[in-house]
Amino acid sequence: MTALVWYRRDLRVHDHPALCAALGAHDRVVPVFCLDDRLLHGRHASGARTQFLLESLRDLDASLRRRGSGLVVRHGPPERELPALAREVGAGALHFSSDVTPFARMRGARTRSALEAAGVELCGHPGVNVVDDAGALRTRAGRPYTVFSPFHRSWQQEPRRAVLGAPRTLPALPAGLTKGRVPALASLGLEQEVEDPPEGGEGPGRRRLEGFLATDLAAYGSGHDDLGGDRTSRLSPYLHLGCVSARAVEERLAGGDGPAAFRRQLCWRDFHHHVLLHFPHNATTEFQERYRGTIRWSRAERRFAAWCEGRTGYPLVDAGMRQLRREGWMHNRARLVAGSFLTKDLGIDWRWGERFFMRLLVDGDEANNNGNWQWIASVGTDPQPVYRRIYNPARQMASHDPSGTYVRRYVPELARVPDEYLAEPWTMPDGVQRLAACVIGRDYPRPIVDHAQARREALERYRV
Ligand SMILES: Cc1cc2nc3c(=O)[nH]c(=O)nc-3n(C[C@H](O)[C@H](O)[C@H](O)COP(=O)(O)OP(=O)(O)OC[C@H]3O[C@@H](n4cnc5c(N)ncnc54)[C@H](O)[C@@H]3O)c2cc1C
Repeated sequence: MTALVWYRRDLRVHDHPALCAALGAHDRVVPVFCLDDRLLHGRHASGARTQFLLESLRDLDASLRRRGSGLVVRHGPPERELPALAREVGAGALHFSSDVTPFARMRGARTRSALEAAGVELCGHPGVNVVDDAGALRTRAGRPYTVFSPFHRSWQQEPRRAVLGAPRTLPALPAGLTKGRVPALASLGLEQEVEDPPEGGEGPGRRRLEGFLATDLAAYGSGHDDLGGDRTSRLSPYLHLGCVSARAVEERLAGGDGPAAFRRQLCWRDFHHHVLLHFPHNATTEFQERYRGTIRWSRAERRFAAWCEGRTGYPLVDAGMRQLRREGWMHNRARLVAGSFLTKDLGIDWRWGERFFMRLLVDGDEANNNGNWQWIASVGTDPQPVYRRIYNPARQMASHDPSGTYVRRYVPELARVPDEYLAEPWTMPDGVQRLAACVIGRDYPRPIVDHAQARREALERYRV
C-alpha cells in the first residue's frame, strides 16, 4: 500500500517520526509539500522567510533524492492538492507531524475532512516540539499552563521519545508522477528584503548545530545575554521549519548548568506553543482580559517608521532593528529591548511590532513571536508588574553590551563615539561629536522620546 508523508514545518529526514512510521507500515511512500498562498501571501507574508523555506525544500528534495525518492511539490491548498495526489498514486494513508497554530489546525481540519471523504486514513505524529505533546501538559487543577516556571517543571518530568535516525534508502516515487518544482521567490511575487540571511535547509541547520555544540556550552547560561559575544545557537529558523528536530537537539545536550540553561530556552518554545494551542485568540488579542481594548495605543506612524528603520536615537534599539533588517534575525536581548521600547517608550500597539517582526524574521513563528510580544508588552501570560518590563535602553547596554561591540557592529555611524557616550550619544559635547564624526541630528538622530518621561507615561497608560 502507498502512503503520503505531508511535510509542513518538519523539513528534514533525521528524527522524523511521521516519515519513519509511513516507511514502517507501507511499501511505497510519497513525500509531498504544498505551497499554500494563504500562508505565502497571508497576514504573516515574508519574502525573507519564504526564501529560507524554498532553500529548505530544495535541500530536503536533494536529501530525499539521494535516498532514492524525492519531494513532490504542489502549489495550492492541501485540502485540494492532497486528495488529488492520493487518488493519483493510490494512497490509502497520510502521515504528518502535528502542529498547534490556529492556521495549522484550521487547515489540518479541512484537509482531514477532504481526505477522509476520499477514503484516506490520517495519522498524526510528534516531531515539532521537544516533548511529544506539549499541548497535553496540565496543572494540578487540570488546566493548561499560563505561567512558565511550573510548566518548565512539569515539562522536565515528561517522558521523551527515542531520537530516530534518517532512513538510508527510500522507495522510488511512482513512475510517471509529475514531481513539481520548488519555485524561485520572485515567481511567487515575493521579494527578499534582508541583506545577509542565513541559508535554509537541514544540511546548513545540522552544521550550525554541530558548530554550536563545539562551543563552550558551560558558558551559555552566563553568556547568552552577551550581545557582542553572539553566543546563542542561532538555531531558531531551523527549529521553526523543523530543519533540525527540537527533540534531537535536546538529546545532544550534556549535563551541567550551561546545557540546562539552553534546554530551558527550548522549553520556552514548547511553552509558547502550548499557550497558543489553548488560547488561540491570543493570535489577535491580549491574553489578559483587562487590557483588551482598554490601553490607548499611540498611532504615531513616523515614530513607528523610525523604530522600524533603526533611527530612534537609542543605540541599542537601533542596533537591534538594523540587525533584523540585515540578517533577518535579532539577538533575544535586543528583541526584548526593541519590544519594550516600541510598546512602553513609544506606546505603540504590540501588534504593529509583531507584524513587522513577522515580515522580516527568518525564524518568525506565530506562537513564539506572539507569546514574546505579549510578554514584553505586559499583556500576555506569565504576568509581572508593568514597571518590571520597561527596559531602560542605556542600562541594558551597560549590562549586555558594555564595550559597545554590538552597537558598533550594526550602527557604523557610532563607530568612533567614545565608550562613555555610546549609550547616550546626545550627551556628547559638540567638540567630541565633531571628533567622532558623529554630529547628533546630522549623522545620528536625536532621541525621539525622553525615556524617563516615556516611562511615566507608560505606567499611566497601563493603569486601567
Ligand atoms: C519580541 C520577541 C519576538 C520573538 N519572536 C520570535 C519568533 O518569531 N520566533 C522564535 O523562534 N523566537 C522568537 N523570539 C524568542 C527568541 O528571541 C528567539 O527564539 C532567539 O533569539 C533565537 O535565537 P537562538 O536560536 O540563537 O536562541 P538560543 O538562545 O540558542 O535558544 C535555543 C532555542 O530556544 C528557543 N527559544 C529561545 N528563547 C526563546 C523564547 N524567549 N521564546 C521561545 N523560544 C525561545 C528558540 O527555538 C531558540 O532557537 C522572540 C523574542 C522576543 C522578545
